[in-house]
Amino acid sequence: MNNLYSAFQKTIIQNAQKIFIQTTKGNFSFSDIEIFSAKIANALSAMGLQAGDRIAVQVEKSAYNIFLYLACLRAGLIYLPLNNSYTDDELSFFFKDANPRLIICDPVKEVALRQITNIHLETLNQEGQGSLASAWQNQAEKHHIFPSAGEDVAVMLYTSGTTGKPKGAMLSHRALLSNAMTLNQVWQITAQDVFLHMLPLFHVHGLFFGLHTLLLAGGKIVLASKFDTDTFFTRLPEVSLFMGVPTYYTRLLNDERLTKASCAHMRLFTSGSAPLLPTTFEAFQARTGHTLLERYGMTETGVNTSNPLQGKRKVGSVGLPLPGIDVQIAEAKRSGDIGEIQIRGENLFSGYWEKKLLCSTPQKNANATNPYDRPYFHTGDLGYFDEDGYLFIVGRSKDLIITGGLNVYPKEIELSLNALDGIEESAVIGIPHPDFGEAVIAVVVGDASKLNEKTLIDNLKQHHAGYKCPKRIFFTDALPKNTMGKVQKNILRKQFEQCFK
Ligand code: AMP
Repeated sequence: MNNLYSAFQKTIIQNAQKIFIQTTKGNFSFSDIEIFSAKIANALSAMGLQAGDRIAVQVEKSAYNIFLYLACLRAGLIYLPLNNSYTDDELSFFFKDANPRLIICDPVKEVALRQITNIHLETLNQEGQGSLASAWQNQAEKHHIFPSAGEDVAVMLYTSGTTGKPKGAMLSHRALLSNAMTLNQVWQITAQDVFLHMLPLFHVHGLFFGLHTLLLAGGKIVLASKFDTDTFFTRLPEVSLFMGVPTYYTRLLNDERLTKASCAHMRLFTSGSAPLLPTTFEAFQARTGHTLLERYGMTETGVNTSNPLQGKRKVGSVGLPLPGIDVQIAEAKRSGDIGEIQIRGENLFSGYWEKKLLCSTPQKNANATNPYDRPYFHTGDLGYFDEDGYLFIVGRSKDLIITGGLNVYPKEIELSLNALDGIEESAVIGIPHPDFGEAVIAVVVGDASKLNEKTLIDNLKQHHAGYKCPKRIFFTDALPKNTMGKVQKNILRKQFEQCFK
């Protein structure tokens, strides 16, 4: 049986009476997971939905959201989670592009969504109420898992799309299971682990890395509806594992409750989805005695590399390729050469929805079970391996600046800026320039009283070739970031595009 849910069901049966999800509103055992997901799957079938149909879901984070996701898996439906902050315009695009058979939204959104689509709509709120809940109420507690093939699409996730229109990445049952098993192996997630889940459920980080791993291992999830420091410190004593984006860690560092004593019982803190600043890594180590474990993943691939659980976790590095995942730097001849990071392995997505597939589907390959039989996926990230085989990311290829024909990797300058007194963080971007094609500028967050544009530029010039140094430095209170803490450089480029015109 290749349906991802059947892999979860094994643990569910073994741990039936154990609590799996703990929330402030109640607890749910593994057996509750089985029953709710069965009832919802039956309700969805009764509505006429069939394997392969897409279900677009924009609901508040809750245990019921998880049951709904698992119901879709077990019924062979394609789950399509949507960011809660999407506007009606953005939602219209997704509905048109993905053409789902059913949309499930929070009841408060129902009226607005009915204005923009005629697609069948059901509702579900955080308390497990709404028209979908009424539909599953009287359904049977038993459901036969749909016999999906490993390569069948389980989830479709729109990538952040910082440039152009977002694309729906299709993830197969096999790819998701493979990555979850690999993570459990390298991070040694077990039934003893209690995970404080504060990530959104509409992104790979919270939906796959945070949920699949614990479900497979038979651990426990303390489910918070979102990240906030008060909830973090209230729940911290009960948990052993935390996964966060760098912004969570910078916020925790601003709180005096983050201490060696409060974190003494923790087994592991991981960081990913956006670059972790070396200053955050070091400050966290000094304050808590824990070394953050940074890893690198993306919607299309799951987690590709990770610093080791045992062994050196290198500051600034996203670690070593995971077992079974082949990571190469395009055209690199030796360690230290920078190039595009390319990936192949069973973890890869099957392609973009209704677009030319970026990697051939397994069925089309001569040897369908061999992940290395596929072409490499071009991530668009630039990086290099050091002499120990650790991967360092230097930026997105689309963020690479070409000024006067010379390449500038923004991260190199950002690291130098961030190390200067008074600077909290920075973003280095290229903007149109009549002479150089593109000019380097920096946008900096920090203590304005300590910062002077000319002094900063002069300082950088002592360490970097002149062409790499910003021609202008602008100060701001905060950098624009998306939900996962990624700096939205496209917004900055737009904001400063007139600078040299
Ligand atoms: P998403 O598909 O939203 O998960 O975004 C994936 C992108 O996030 C990657 O292609 C990287 O550019 C970035 N990313 C993820 N993890 C890291 C990390 N640890 N350090 C730097 N960038 C990261």
